[in-house]
Amino acid sequence: MKYLRIGIRIVMACFLLSIAAAEIAQAQTKEQLEEWNQPVAPFRIIGNVYYVGASDVTSYLIHTPAGDIVLDGGVVQTAPQIEANIKTLGFKLDDVKILLNSHAHFDHAGGLAELKKSSGASLVTMEADAKQLERGGHGDFFFGDADLFPAVTPNRLIHDGDTVSLGGTTLTAHLTAGHTRGCTTWTMTAEEAGKDYNLVFFCSASVLDGYVLVARPGHPASYPGIAEDYEKSFRIWKSLSCDVFLGAHGQFFDLTEKYEALKNGAQKNPFIDPAGYQAYVAQKEADFQKELERQKDLAANADKTPPKN
Ligand SMILES: [Zn+2]
Repeated sequence: MKYLRIGIRIVMACFLLSIAAAEIAQAQTKEQLEEWNQPVAPFRIIGNVYYVGASDVTSYLIHTPAGDIVLDGGVVQTAPQIEANIKTLGFKLDDVKILLNSHAHFDHAGGLAELKKSSGASLVTMEADAKQLERGGHGDFFFGDADLFPAVTPNRLIHDGDTVSLGGTTLTAHLTAGHTRGCTTWTMTAEEAGKDYNLVFFCSASVLDGYVLVARPGHPASYPGIAEDYEKSFRIWKSLSCDVFLGAHGQFFDLTEKYEALKNGAQKNPFIDPAGYQAYVAQKEADFQKELERQKDLAANADKTPPKN
């Protein structure tokens, strides 16, 4: 009886601790979201490309004589900031003709429904992420039905290598899957002072904590072929010629530091950073390989454990 009571107490303590841990995790997420979504002043990055996003969740406006293109909508609360930033720069919401997305996660697709409604723009996205956008994040291979966002319907579905053109500017979509099935890295050329620069809008190479790259008993792969997708994406990222390194999160390419340098009158545009791009891709690939090896070991050891019967 005594042992039973102690046992019940231990179970209760674990239960309360797990609630506390879940609450801490939630609080961190909320804090992190607020940190990612601090309003920042919009500015011109290079050529016809402008920054209209928040402190970390990014959004870009590409201005052309035939109207504007906006890439990414941040979290749902970022949309009004993006709209205000567009107006602050002297552009009109009505002139946004095309909306693009890096990938169908709440922190990049959250504001797309609102931006589509307020601008009347058509949304162009990779087919492999389209269903997730239409479902507002429901049934995500990792988040399940958590981290939802307002559902949004794409007007045009694209595939690897397809292009989006408006007013003399052409963006190319590269399918760099893994982080999501349709993770899209966009590239374009921008002209500044008579020189052309290759821009890369990097999707994401992050392997979220809990992604299963190598299936093992009881743990199916996050989605079939996820590890091969990451490997293919790294080959693509390494093959891209990049002068100006941009991406879905400011932390990928040191947005804050580069913006400060630009504001303080840096001689050379700090966003021109080919070495930074190569170093980032190399680091992410090393991180990925390490995680892949760890999971291969887990799977190999799981195979050796005799099944319990
Ligand atoms: Zn993501």
